[in-house]
Amino acid sequence: MNVPDRPHTPQHAYLFADPAAHSLSPQMHRAAFAHAGIDGEYTARRVGAAGLPEAVAGLRQPGVLGANLSLPHKESVPALLDDLTPAARAIGAVNTVIHSGGRLRGDNTDAPGLLAALADADAPTGGLSVVLGAGGAARAAVYALRQAGHDVLVVNRTHARAQALAAELGGRAAWPETAPWSAVTLLVNASSAGLDAPDDSPLPTFPPLDPRALVYDMVYRPAETRLLRDARAAGLRAENGLGMLAHQARLAFTAWTGADVPVAVFLEALKVAEATGDPAP
Ligand code: NAP
Repeated sequence: MNVPDRPHTPQHAYLFADPAAHSLSPQMHRAAFAHAGIDGEYTARRVGAAGLPEAVAGLRQPGVLGANLSLPHKESVPALLDDLTPAARAIGAVNTVIHSGGRLRGDNTDAPGLLAALADADAPTGGLSVVLGAGGAARAAVYALRQAGHDVLVVNRTHARAQALAAELGGRAAWPETAPWSAVTLLVNASSAGLDAPDDSPLPTFPPLDPRALVYDMVYRPAETRLLRDARAAGLRAENGLGMLAHQARLAFTAWTGADVPVAVFLEALKVAEATGDPAP
């Protein structure tokens, strides 16, 4: 008896962002689908604020796993979803939407992604941690570090935003001029200073940190920011944000598919994409 082939039904995941063309997520998720043996597609779509409700409604269709959200949607998408994880609710930002049976759940994998990247970098766990910035990435960082038991200081260009963030998520706000830098064992740049600007630093005068300190810059483009150069010149260990990017993607992929693909697969895809200068469509 001839059994007809089953219809070809790849599973889909998306990135909604504006701009979207520069994203490295398609390469990572395509590599993960291939590694897991899943017939899947990941597509980056340029979606503006006006188009977000329709794009999100489309995620409820069968065959759709979910989506990643990036600038400018992380803080506006929660209102379009059925449910949020406790982390996404506390942070107030969603970078991953998970589809199940027509319902959409919002999660934030930036927070655990940062912790996983810090663990890979053997970041000190005691001492004082400073988060630079007060936007969505800083909110994820402060939430994650507080959950992991860190004592956190928030330093931001607009001090009032640092105060508001610390009051809401824990930790204290500090001015760069008076922060107790010599006690700082972890410095996380969650500001966008340095992004596509190799000579800009969120700390133009690099402060004297504890000699054991790790400096973690969430910025990964350029790979070597001024902050990282200054940290290394001061004899400190310093890492860019590619590890966090890979881990947040790995966690989203597992939430969508149930497959636990090693982070090395995501990192290798990033390496190839960076080497070829080939952001996906
Ligand atoms: P955002 O909401 O726009 O916040 C930007 C923050 O950076 C604000 O606090 C802003 O200060 C501060 N800032 C901007 N320019 C500055 C400058 N020249 N000097 C000092 N501070 C400056 O952005 P976001 O979504 O939080 O993202 C922040 C960064 O994290 C981006 O570079 C993003 O690519 C990166 N990120 C990386 C990952 C990863 O996986 N590696 C994940 C998420 C985000 P004001 O409050 O004074 O405006």
